[in-house]
Parts: sequence; C-alpha cells; structure tokens
Amino acid sequence: MALTQLPPTVSSAAVYEGILRRQSSRESAARTYARSLPIVPVRARGLTIEGADGRRYLDCLSGAGSLALGHNHPVVLEAIRSVLDSGAPLHVLDLATPVKDAFTDELFATLPRGLAASGRIQFCSPAGTDAVEAAFKLVRIATGRDGLLAFTGAYHGMTEGALAASGGAPGARVTRLPFPQDYRCPFGVGGENGARLAARWTESLLDDPKSGVRPPAGMIVEPVQGEGGVLPAPSGWLRRMRELTAERSIPLIADEVQTGVGRTGAFWAVGHSGIEPDVMVLSKAIGGSLPLAVIVYREALDAWQPGDHAGTFRGNQLAMAAGAATLRYVRENGLAGRAAALGGRMLDRLRRLAAEYDCIGEVRGAGLMIGIEFVEPEDGAGSAARAEWLAAAGDGAGPTARPESGGVPAPGARGGPAGGARPGTGRGPGADGPLPASPARAAAVQQECLRRGLIVELGGRHSCVVRLLPPLTITDEQAEAVLDRLADAVAAVCRPGSRIPGIPAPSTPKEAGAASPA
Ligand code: PMP
Repeated sequence: MALTQLPPTVSSAAVYEGILRRQSSRESAARTYARSLPIVPVRARGLTIEGADGRRYLDCLSGAGSLALGHNHPVVLEAIRSVLDSGAPLHVLDLATPVKDAFTDELFATLPRGLAASGRIQFCSPAGTDAVEAAFKLVRIATGRDGLLAFTGAYHGMTEGALAASGGAPGARVTRLPFPQDYRCPFGVGGENGARLAARWTESLLDDPKSGVRPPAGMIVEPVQGEGGVLPAPSGWLRRMRELTAERSIPLIADEVQTGVGRTGAFWAVGHSGIEPDVMVLSKAIGGSLPLAVIVYREALDAWQPGDHAGTFRGNQLAMAAGAATLRYVRENGLAGRAAALGGRMLDRLRRLAAEYDCIGEVRGAGLMIGIEFVEPEDGAGSAARAEWLAAAGDGAGPTARPESGGVPAPGARGGPAGGARPGTGRGPGADGPLPASPARAAAVQQECLRRGLIVELGGRHSCVVRLLPPLTITDEQAEAVLDRLADAVAAVCRPGSRIPGIPAPSTPKEAGAASPA
C-alpha cells in the first residue's frame, strides 16, 4: 500500500489510524516527537506537511531544525536527482569523490577565516551526537587531558560522551559551568551583570587549584542553546569564554549542530560574537535534509592516527550533494540576513502577544530560532515574599538592562528598566524573580497549535518553552499565518476563563480589559 500514491483528496482515517496504532504498539517507549504529534506525513513542500488524514500543517519543527530550506526544496531535489542520474556510487565509506569534494569546497567557503584557511574536516557517522563524540576524542588526544567543560542546560546528543556533557546528565569527567540567561539567571540578576558573574565563576573555577576541576581537554558550548530553551549566549560572555580558553590552551568547541547554516541570522552563530572556535561541530542543516555530520578544526589539533574515528556511514553522497546545494542556496540568497530580519519582526509581534498574557514569562530568540517560555502566574503573596528575599540577596540590584549583551544581536535580548515587567520580552522576571515554569501550559499550547494546523516544538529546562524553527525560506505571509495560529492557541490556553485540564484557569489578564489576540 503506497499512501503517497493516493490522490490528494483521498484520506482514509482507518489507514492512518492503523499506522499510528501500529507505531505505538511496535516502536519503543523512547519514541519522542511521535507522542505529541500524532501525524502521518505523506507529502511535504516548503513549510507545509500534508498528513495521511488529508490535513495540512505549517511545520515549524523543520526536522528539529535540519530543514533550512523547508521540505523538498527544488534545489535539494535537483541535487539528489543529479547524483542518482549520474550513476555515481551512493555509498563509498570515506573515499574521495567529486560530490564530497564539492561539498567540502562549499562548506569551507562559509567557515570563519582561520578554519577556512587551514582547517581540517572529519566526516563522522551521520548524527550530530557522533560528531560531538569525535570532537571530544580529538581534543583529548591533542591535549592529553580528559576533563571537559560544559554548560548547564546544554544539549549535545544521546551517545554516552555527548549525553554526559549535556545538562541534566551526570558526567564524571565533566565540569558544569553556568550558562548565562536572563529570565532564570542563576545569579538572580540577568543581563550583562549575570553574564559577567557567569564568566567570573568560570574563571575562578579554572584558576582555583582546589576547585577539583579535572584538567580540561576542551570547552563545548552552543552559541544559542536550542533544546535548553532558546538561550542566546551573550556576545561579551562568549568572547570571554574564548579568551579564558585561549589563555589556558583549552580548545573551544562550538556545537553548531542546530544553530548553523543561517538559522540564527548569521551563517554560523559564532559570527555574532566574532569568535573563532578551535573546533566546530556541524550536522542537521548541512545535509540538506539528509543525514550528515562533520567536525572542522584547527590543523594543530590533528594528532589523530589513521582510524582514530571511523564509521561505515561517512560517505553519504546524496546528503553531501543535498548539503552542498543547501549551503550554496543559503549563501547566495542571503538567507541568514533574511532570518535575522524576519526573526526580528516575528519576535516583535510575539512580544506584543506576551504583553497581554501573564502566562508568558519571556520571549527570546535569534533569527529564526525562537522560544516562548510559559509560566504559572502566582498569587500576590508568593511573589511579594520572593521579591523581598531577592531584594535582600541581590542588594536591591534586580535585573538590569542589557544594552549589548547579545551574543546574538538581540532581537530576543531584553533591555528595559531595572526590575518590573520589561516590555517586549513577556512578563520578564521583574523584581520578584522568574515565575514557576509551566510545562503543562506549554504542552497545551503545542496541542492547541496542532489543532490549528501548526507544528511547534517544546524545549527548555522545564519543557516549558514553545519553540519555533521555521525554514529560512518562510515568506512574510506564512510567518503571519504561523503567528496567527500561535496567538490563537495561546489565547485558548491562557485567556481568563479558559479551561485546560491540569492547568489552573488564569485569573487576571495582564491589564484590565486586555484583549485576546485571537
Ligand atoms: N548538538 C545540538 C546543539 C543539538 O541540538 C543536537 C540535536 N538536537 C545534537 C547535538 C545531537 O544531534 P543528533 O540528534 O543528530 O545526534
């Protein structure tokens, strides 16, 4: 039975329900997206997915950020077809081919200057997590040290080493450092001060002979934490991490698996701060929707022996062709700049939405990597007590404005008066600190989006962040349609009087008479 051959008007509830039922009875309990998105995609183009039920969805998950050009972009299909039609082998281990050569040329043309001039590339097994493992192995061999510096809230993958470097997983060889953020700033101050304190903490750990830090082979950082809840690293902080690591001969590894290929408004997200890492980990969009993962690194680190990082599937010719076409299209059409501009406008509109709802704690993002954090508004007593405690603890500092924090130019960075709600970012932590995370509300918004034909992702430390990762090719009109549906979904969940099982009904709108955006 070939569902894809059904004419578009035919939909068979029995068929797609059967597929879903068989999936849930046969696939492992570890399945993820399939649980919250019970869709059976049969056709897709650009932003749109069509399900076997005949419904059409706007896809802002984009293969977890891997579809820079959306589904089935003509240049990607053409690149794949031309390899198929040429009779070239599809699988060649790590042998040299014209397709691989062209991919490598195209990739190197986009890299930061030093890496482009004399970097090395290692083709890895085709998942981001294997490239992360390769990066760790590389720096351990090159430095002779085995510790790793990684950040709270990070996500680097599911294999053992990558998982150990991710937030939430214990890793005996990993020292976890604070990643700066505004809304849930670990130091309670946010903004530039929070970023400065985070950097200071890192510096003191590295220099304190009694800190117990295992001599580090490298520091791994996401320039914008994705799974961690869409947290752009402040530029100044990232530059400081570069300085601290360079001064101590610690290789800096930028995990650009999710942020690469224009996603954040620069071709590579490290470009926002101007730093050059020693190693870059690349996957997702570089394969143009097919599996591909590489690391590129400074030549001086290339202390590997033949076979030190091997793997059968390192020669996927279709992925290299699709990836080269994608990289070229993004570069030639200035899609990084387009992501910056459109992402900024989308954030503006989301900020206006956030201003209407107490249940949105913060809106943030970089380019077309956008997050909306849902919180549980509290009664006055709770927040007053917390305000008092925080004022004492922080010497009244409160959250501060963040004029140049943004690692990523800050459509999502907030600026505004110290304390209190800050326009443009949602409620903001204000003087009373962040509100409790609301994973239930975020999950409800995701489901309400789905009901309205919009696919969004969840993420964040507490799974309370609704994430948008639309393709870089999304048009202005499509972006408006996405935001219309999202606003409608937020209204359904957060409007006073709305009743979502498991969520307390919101009692007070942000301002008396605040209108539902629907
Ligand atoms: N690093 C980052 C920053 C990621 O976002 C991901 C995947 N979400 C990975 C690594 C792991 O990639 P993969 O799922 O392909 O193993």
